[in-house]
Parts: sequence; C-alpha cells; structure tokens
Amino acid sequence: MLFEEAKRVYEAWLSDQGYTARQGQLDMMRFIAQSLTRKQRRIGVVEAGTGTGKTVAYCIPAAIEARRQGKTLVIVTSTVLLQQQLLHAELQQLADLFSPKLTFGIIKGRRRYACIDRLDKNVNSHGDESVDLFGSENPSRDDRRIAGDLLDRFNTRQWDGDMDAVPIALAQRHRSSFTTDAIGCHRQSCEYSKPCPYFRARNRITSLDVVVTNYSLLMAAGREGIDMLPAPEDCVYVFDEVHRLADIVMSSGTVSTTTSGVVEFVQKVEDFINRLMNNVEEGHPLSSGQQDILDTVPRVETLVDQLREHFSQLSITTTVEPDSQRSVFRFVAGRVDESTSDHARVLANVVGGLFVALNELYTTLDDARANLPLWINTDVLGRAVRSVTELLTTVRDIKSLFEDWGSDSPVASARWLSPDGNEWRMHTVPIAVEEILDSAIWSQAHSVICTSATIYSSQEFDQFKQEVGLNLSDEHFRRIASPFDFRRNVRFQVANIGFSAPGGEAFNNAAAAYLPQLLAKNRSGLVLFTSRADMVKVYKQMPDDFRSLCLMQDALSMAETIRKHRRTIDTGGQSFIFGLVSYREGVDLPGDYCQHVVIMRIPFNVPDDPVIKSQKELLGFENAFMQYDVPQASLRLFQACGRLLRSETDRGSITVLDRRIIEKTQYCNELIRPLPDFEIVDLKNPVNPAA
Ligand code: SF4
Repeated sequence: MLFEEAKRVYEAWLSDQGYTARQGQLDMMRFIAQSLTRKQRRIGVVEAGTGTGKTVAYCIPAAIEARRQGKTLVIVTSTVLLQQQLLHAELQQLADLFSPKLTFGIIKGRRRYACIDRLDKNVNSHGDESVDLFGSENPSRDDRRIAGDLLDRFNTRQWDGDMDAVPIALAQRHRSSFTTDAIGCHRQSCEYSKPCPYFRARNRITSLDVVVTNYSLLMAAGREGIDMLPAPEDCVYVFDEVHRLADIVMSSGTVSTTTSGVVEFVQKVEDFINRLMNNVEEGHPLSSGQQDILDTVPRVETLVDQLREHFSQLSITTTVEPDSQRSVFRFVAGRVDESTSDHARVLANVVGGLFVALNELYTTLDDARANLPLWINTDVLGRAVRSVTELLTTVRDIKSLFEDWGSDSPVASARWLSPDGNEWRMHTVPIAVEEILDSAIWSQAHSVICTSATIYSSQEFDQFKQEVGLNLSDEHFRRIASPFDFRRNVRFQVANIGFSAPGGEAFNNAAAAYLPQLLAKNRSGLVLFTSRADMVKVYKQMPDDFRSLCLMQDALSMAETIRKHRRTIDTGGQSFIFGLVSYREGVDLPGDYCQHVVIMRIPFNVPDDPVIKSQKELLGFENAFMQYDVPQASLRLFQACGRLLRSETDRGSITVLDRRIIEKTQYCNELIRPLPDFEIVDLKNPVNPAA
C-alpha cells in the first residue's frame, strides 16, 4: 500500500518535471516501502548504482511513511553538495505533491552557523595589541572589517548566518573566530539568542516533516545527549552516502593530545587565573576556587614529566608494537598496559578536578554577565568568558583521553603513541563502530534506510554488515543496477609503464612522463592517488606545459578547484585534477568535465595504519588480507570508477596504472567482480613514457 501511494506521487512528479519513469527508481521505492512497513527491524540497505535517481526514490516513500506514523523524516548525508541538492531540487519539487504541503529544512552543527555575539565582539574589540588581556589573539583591523561586513549583511537580511553560504571569502581563523560551540554559547545571557542563526534553525525544525542534516551532527547529538534532533524513536532515518558511516563514527570519537600540550594547557590556565585576579575589584567572589586551580598546575607538570619518561621507557619494550618507521607505537588490540593505565588514571583525576574548577569559574562569570556586578568591568568580563570557554573545550578533551587510557573497562579503540621530538602524542580512535551504532541508532530508531552508490564489495554486503554491525537477513539488502551502459560507454584499460606493481621513485617518474601522452586527446580528467607524497612527486616531475593544465588537491579548496576546472572546460581549455580520497568518493564532474579517470594504484589499506591493524584484531579474521583488505580495496575501486559516468550520455576512459588488477591471480577476480560490466583492455606492450 505504501508503494502504491508512493507511486502516485512519483507519477505526479514525473509529469511535473517532464521525466519518464525509471525502473531502478521504482524498484528502489518498492524495496524502501517494504523495509519501512515491516513489523519489526524496519531497516533496509540499498545500493543504488549511479544514475538511479535515488534521492527521489527514497524521499517519496520515506516522507509518506514518516507522516503516517507521526515521525520526522531525517535525511543524513555527508556532503554539503547533496544537502543543497535535496533542499533546492528534490524536496522543493516534491513539496506541493503532498497534501498538506511537505515542509522541510536543514540543521547543522553550531560551527556551521555564525555566532552573532562573536561577530559583535570581533567588531567591537579595540586596542592595537595583537593579544588581549588574557593572551588570546585580538582580531586584526582586517578581521574587524570582515566581521563588520558580515554583521551588516546579517542585520539587513542579506545573509542568514549560514557559514556554508557566507557571501565573502573567509580564512579558517575567521570561521573559528566567528562561530562557537556548546561550551562557548551562553544562550541564557546572550542578547542575540533571538536572532541567533543556530537557535533559529533549531527551533524551525521542530515542526517540519523532513529534516536534512549531516552525520557529524547526528553523532554529536547521540554522544553528547544534545536534543538538536528528534529522539531516534521519533525518526524515520535515511542515511545517504552511507559508505562513509563507519569512518565518520570513528573520526567523531577521535581524541589526541601531546605531553607538551597538556603542560602548555595548564600553564595557560595559570596565566589566565593570574591575569583575571589582577583585573577584578574588591568584593569579587573568585578567590578560593582559583587557588585550587593554581595548586593543580605544578602537580600536572610533575605528572606529565613522569608520563613522558614512562613513554620513553615503554617505546623500547615489547609492550607496544612499533611500525616500520618507529613513528607509531601501538597497543596491540588497543589494550593499554597496567602501568600506563595507572599514570593515565592519576592524570584523569587531577585534570578532572581542573575541569570542575574551571566549570565553576565559568558559571560565576556567566552569572556576572547576567547581573553586571561592580567587581568586574564588562570588557574584562567578556574577554574572560571567551578565554574560559576555550580552556574548557581543551580540558574536556584532555580529560576524556586520560579517562579512556585509564579505564578499567575501556571500549574497543585503537590506541597508540607517536613521538614528536622529545614529546609524545597519545591517540584514541574508537573502533567498536557496531556497538556505538547499535546503541545510538539500530536498536532505537523507528526505521532506517541506508543507501549509497557504493556499498557492495567483493564480499557482497558482508563487508558493510560487519563494519556497521547490521546482522540482518538478505531480505534487508538490495542492489539496484545503474542504468548506464558501461560496456558501450567506458573504455577500461590497464596500462603498462614497465612495472608489475606501483611504488617508488622510478614508478612515479614513469607515470609523470606517461600522463601527458595518455591524456593528450582529452579535455578533462581526474587522476586519483592513494598517497599525498606520490601525488606531489608526480605533479612536480611532469613537463611544465602539462603541469600548467593540472590542478592539485589542496592548492585551493575543493569547491574552488572544481569551479576553476569547470571554468577552463567551459572556455574550451584542458584541465586535469590530481586528487586523493575526497575526490575518489565525492566529486561530481558530469559530461565534458571528466573524460578520463586515471587510477594510479589499487587503493589498498596502508599496512602500518594503527586503526586498520586494531580493527583487524578486533574482528579476528582467518585471512585478514582476503577478508578485509581486498573487499575494502574493491569498494574503493568501484568508487573511483563511479567518477566517470554521471549521466546516460557520458562517455570516457578509465586507465589503471597498477597491473596487479589483472596480474595478481590471488585476488584480481575479487577486485574486479563488484565493478560495473566493463570490457577490460590490457595494454600489454610497455609504453615508452619518454616517447
Ligand atoms: S545564542 Fe549562543 S550561538 Fe547564538 S549568538 Fe548567542 S552565544 Fe552565539
């Protein structure tokens, strides 16, 4: 019944837009309707090949069912591009086809909205010193001008405070200076809480049918218990670009700090307290708690000295496993040894005390902001609050890392040390993704649809199931083939530049000499690397005339790189982008914007990566290479190939420079099997790159 209703809306949409029905869209809608109307375990995973039109195929049935159940449809994506497309295209087009009209909006993390209080503080900060009373950097004249410009645009409604749609060029420091986080926001006493862009967006979504958001916000809401989104049981979720889910869960829980960072932090706290006490008048309520903070500082310094010494000793024992460069010392299976744990526990206690004391200080200062007492002037107060919120953010991270390393029952995480001169950096990355997702989503949500163009690997859906902890029967999974004719429209070739496997200077030199010949007849292309070092070497090694046609990742932002690339193609020029993983996964270059994809190397996992190693230990494979590395590489190859055809009329070539894809009989079939139906051409004869 849900499918029939969805089909009626779909047909109305087709007629409005002048499109014809696609079988893939109908199949996907039917699968989603079945998944959402199960009696229990309302979870469906659907891989929709490029060109299926998956956004419409999930929006229609999910919105109908969410409304019918009195739930909110929450669509979660990982790219701003897809969020914009949903808001300005699909949801706009569908809204009027629902009765009553479908309402929708977006909510993002606080840092994606301007904090008007911060903008105002930037504009009104004065003094020519580069740092303020508490040692925080003062805005420069230029910063003040930019903040003023943004504030004007906000006040005159030319801009709504969305940092993703900021109307002028901003440096990263502006973005952090003009935004805030949960600790830095003092909503109760903030004079801008009414027009505040973040709270406006948050208030707006409470009455909407459909909320678009990103994974980082979803994870932060679950982790910190913040009610930015409806509770999971009140949500029908659609997780788009779901192939990134496991990585996002891990990176959202990542913490790291250095031994010197801890010492610098406590010295900063000491300096802050001294300056604050020198700038308050008699009758202030601060004295006793502040002495406690000052007493903590030398204690932390001594404990960190001991920890530093302990790590140096540890690195020459077998307690930790060094990588080949001795740049990572990993705790096997993430298990921190007893002695390290003891050190961490003591520090967690002391730093925890500091956190409590700073929190109390923050409350006192925040109260003062509401009551404006005589013992502190407003300028000092504003700056003190800003400084103490920055200190609180740092102390929270340090505390959580020591607590994690000192815990008696730590959650499964990768934990390791890396040397940094005479200092040590401690790292924790959570790897029990399935547990985190189960407690936050799978066992809580009303229903969930997971989708992406690339979920299926050489292990079919098993890789995905294992990564995210979805132990469900086959009926919960579906693969919708792309409507594109890959055999006819793609030339998939494996080049021979004289190496049976990539790697090393000679390979990079040969590749740099070969690329200009390979791409000479193309107007555009995407050259995908697995290592930044190799990308830079190949780029630098290329002939000048060809290098001038190439845009290397990170020389400009991704958005600017793509804009420049498109401009060149639009004006009849040639342009080639050199990129890493973000270009492999998410870039959309239809038609003439991408005529050739070059894959320099099979994207295998980095063997020494401490997170990957710990994950393999956690999952306990018999043959980790075949069961874990090969399926992951096949999925990434699939993603890379997906960059070429973006519409049914697109045509082009894919060239792989890594001959292991056809020569390594141990795994080449596994790598190729999940790829679209390409005819593979082996350019057997070695080319002469210098010819
Ligand atoms: S309410 Fe919070 S985020 Fe909003 S303007 Fe005020 S301090 Fe900034």
